[in-house]
Amino acid sequence: MQKTVSFFTKFIVSPILEQFPFFFSFLLLFGGSLIGVPISLLLNYDPTWALGFAKLVGSLFIYDYILTCIIYYTKSKTVKICLYILIIFIYGLNSFLEQNFNYSITPNVLLLVLETNGREASEFIDLFAFSKASLTTYGKVIIRIIIIVTLELTYFRYIYHRDSCRKLKSILILPVILLLIWGFSTFGPLIRICRHNTLDNLFQQQTMELFLPSDPISSTIMSLRSIYLIGNEMKNAVEITKNIKDIAPISDKTDSLNIILVIGESFNKWHSEIYGYHHSTTPYLNQEAQKGNLFAFNNAVCPFCLTSHSVKNILSCNSISDGEAWSQAPFFPAIFKAAQYNVYFWSNQKTYQSDAFPTTISLNSYLFDKDISHSSYTAINDSTFRYDDELVSSLLNSSQQFSDHNLIIFHLMGQHFDAKERFPHNKEFLRYTADSIQRNEDYLQDIEKKQCIADYDNAIIYNDYVIKHIIDFFQHKNTVIVFLTDHGEEVYDYKDGIHRHYEGHMTKGWIKHVHNIPFFIWCSDKYINNHQTTVNSIRNAIDRPFMTDNLCQLMFHLGEIKSDYYITERDPISDQFKPRKRLIEDLHNNKKYDYDEIWLK
Ligand SMILES: [Zn+2]
Repeated sequence: MQKTVSFFTKFIVSPILEQFPFFFSFLLLFGGSLIGVPISLLLNYDPTWALGFAKLVGSLFIYDYILTCIIYYTKSKTVKICLYILIIFIYGLNSFLEQNFNYSITPNVLLLVLETNGREASEFIDLFAFSKASLTTYGKVIIRIIIIVTLELTYFRYIYHRDSCRKLKSILILPVILLLIWGFSTFGPLIRICRHNTLDNLFQQQTMELFLPSDPISSTIMSLRSIYLIGNEMKNAVEITKNIKDIAPISDKTDSLNIILVIGESFNKWHSEIYGYHHSTTPYLNQEAQKGNLFAFNNAVCPFCLTSHSVKNILSCNSISDGEAWSQAPFFPAIFKAAQYNVYFWSNQKTYQSDAFPTTISLNSYLFDKDISHSSYTAINDSTFRYDDELVSSLLNSSQQFSDHNLIIFHLMGQHFDAKERFPHNKEFLRYTADSIQRNEDYLQDIEKKQCIADYDNAIIYNDYVIKHIIDFFQHKNTVIVFLTDHGEEVYDYKDGIHRHYEGHMTKGWIKHVHNIPFFIWCSDKYINNHQTTVNSIRNAIDRPFMTDNLCQLMFHLGEIKSDYYITERDPISDQFKPRKRLIEDLHNNKKYDYDEIWLK
């Protein structure tokens, strides 16, 4: 009997005592913030909070114990070093996100990291690498590494005693067993969440769980599972796109037609003159509107505040309000190609690692997937450029003739942060400075913040110039241009925040600047003469409530595409258009909200 007890004691407790430096380091990294909780609970007892705390302790203990056992039983130094690197990395990442953005590790944050290309990364580093919050993170990480190394070097020499450990083992056996049972019981929600095979179901389960595992390790596991499912969704969307059928070829080939879609980036419409801004940021668009060639829509909304989600929904034939995910519908440019259009996709956000892991889940790996490219494009750009106008020139100055029927899609860098990097710093575009920002809010006393607003306004002036270039090129051809952005942006507009710094709940200020977006249609004189009915429909539709996931319906209308994918009641310029509930998503808790309900509050 005694032998069995001694065997179990050794089996269960030894890993902790023999690998105590690792066991302790894990708690140091992930349990530090929990130290004050028991005292707060004693002073102000709340049963829900207490249970949540107990669950967190249980899940942290179980991860710590499992990793410690792996080191103890493999007896491999390499394994140990790898696990140390892993936990320090997760700790550092989590701390960096918390200090800089008030975020923790979520699927969307991981997706954002994985989708960042080299240029964006270097700008990100310029912005955040030496911020006060980042320096605090580095300090915290370095202090912890020093403690860990010291403990590793001194533990067996000065702390560990075989005899006292033997006694400790018999004392610890019962608490360790109880903590193990409790720890395993807290795994339920994580297993239930990760068991789901579709993203929607996974997110739905997350919202249903009363106690969501909130430690960084569980968050990382859930995020990795979500990212795996995002990859599956892409495969699904590619299959559906490969199998589109019954698309009638264009019947009227007597005249050529150019349909151009320009997808902007991080465009806050309240900084553009055409939507009433007091700085002259869109002189050219204004001029076109006054001439009667440009129609600015006043009530367009995007469903997401993240490029990847937004662009996939813009280019897919789904409708979120009708319960259809982007991956359940085909990629709309493929339908234009099937209808015998030439399709040109020119993206300044294209990166070149589409084949490499882990970018296989990124937006670009979908847009430039081999099968998608084959079924959808006549040609794609092979270089990206520092400024958007160079991208536009690379297509317009190429040998493309643009005869017949063409769908041209430009995906710009727009006003993506850091906005001052988006335009050439010459007289034409450096029109506003910090002094031009006549605002007196308390949080705007810092001149650098005013400079950020000025830079953003200058980036819009450049965007106006880029669109002018496209319009000038096509103005004598039978052409219609649709412009929208993937999502808006925050530039200290209504609070002390920039770059979509989410405050944890949907507010009117947030949806106004991030979800309410610029959307306009420009028609050449020739197009206006040839398509008077369509132009009247456009003119009459500018106040209709529209969401960008249904953009393909407008494109099918303009392209005169005949297929079952065209649904008139989702087409904002059709007489049969029916307004739908516009569901926008809070990417922090994956809940959908009715945009109009928040707007009207
Ligand atoms: Zn974006």
